[in-house]
Amino acid sequence: MKSSNDNVCELVVNNARIFDGSAMLPGLQNVGIAGGRIKSVISSPIAGSRQIDAAGRFLMPGLIDCHIHLLNFWTAKDEATMAADIETELPKRLNAFLAAGVTTVKSVCDSEDDILRVRARLASHELAGPRLLATGAAFCAPGSHPATTLLVQNPWLRSRAAIETDSPERARDAVRRLAGKEVDAIKVVHQGGCKHGSPYFFKAESWGINVQILKLEKAVLGAIIDEAHRHGLKATVHTVDADAAIEALEAGADGLEHGVMEHRLKDDYVVELLLRNHASYVPTLCLIKLEEKMAEVRYANLKQVADAGVRVALGTDSFCGLSKFGEDTIEEAERSAQAGIGAAQILRMATKDAAEHLGLEDLGVVAPGKLADLLLLEGDPANSIGDLRKLSMVIENGAVVVNNSHRA
Ligand SMILES: [Zn+2]
Repeated sequence: MKSSNDNVCELVVNNARIFDGSAMLPGLQNVGIAGGRIKSVISSPIAGSRQIDAAGRFLMPGLIDCHIHLLNFWTAKDEATMAADIETELPKRLNAFLAAGVTTVKSVCDSEDDILRVRARLASHELAGPRLLATGAAFCAPGSHPATTLLVQNPWLRSRAAIETDSPERARDAVRRLAGKEVDAIKVVHQGGCKHGSPYFFKAESWGINVQILKLEKAVLGAIIDEAHRHGLKATVHTVDADAAIEALEAGADGLEHGVMEHRLKDDYVVELLLRNHASYVPTLCLIKLEEKMAEVRYANLKQVADAGVRVALGTDSFCGLSKFGEDTIEEAERSAQAGIGAAQILRMATKDAAEHLGLEDLGVVAPGKLADLLLLEGDPANSIGDLRKLSMVIENGAVVVNNSHRA
């Protein structure tokens, strides 16, 4: 029988302590990589043209950030300014992700065709950066978030990044359009008051925004999610309160972006629905920067959801003007620790569980056959999450893309 030693690998990382996406493997192991994929994970030597001695350092899957906005929605106001952002500023953001060990990101609302073009350029390696998944534009009720909040001064982008609809049929048409462009998921914003209920105001004091908004009609929400599922796409829904979260999950949502941020969960009903749907909770704790007084509520809700066994996928809501791309992903992990989540579970949220949320079976795990997106770190982030900052090396698709080892 042919052993894995018979295959000569392009790259071998020897003598690593390995967190495989779920748990630590025993002792020190060697990882053989060929054709951008992991070929073997064994304790015996592996033949390979390039050998790296990890010397007991910590090896884990690359970090995955499930909620970002990549393009600059403040400065990109027409074709020319969007092109300028993409050519001059975007490469810095992409590089910042890799420098922090983030090898996969998901854009959950950006200018539809622009983000899909960026995705194609990253996939063909014309641009260097993390793997990019994208939902394209996001669905929302007419005159709702983000159309009349963050995008109110930017009509050009509003028509490209937001799909404002109160018609189930037009919503289904738009899902079909997005599916035709092979988006990676469908994003819905379900935040606001009901037409006949109490009014809801979207407030962002630092940007001078205080505007009344409506939630999507339930029939529209249901139509979007149903049509997404017909096309094999997951539908992930922006919510901020329990009522919206319950409506989204009852309509079949596969994920909650932000989750319940505005008040403590009063019971376990949201948790039960998350478990029923096998849905993910994407906490975006980095938004606490905007509203420090909400930290306690958001941490407690995350802890309740995580302890109940719901899949939590790490996501930051990084966007231009507020965030430090990449650096925020580490901050999100550290804030998860402040919520009382153990370090090993946080690593899982940022690797295996994030990959499952994105529907990427090939990512987030150190095992034969998986894509070779790997980090090599000093210290022990499975015990002390801050050690994610002690990054030695980033391997993406089997190639070393960041190497800080000379500093060690
Ligand atoms: Zn967002």
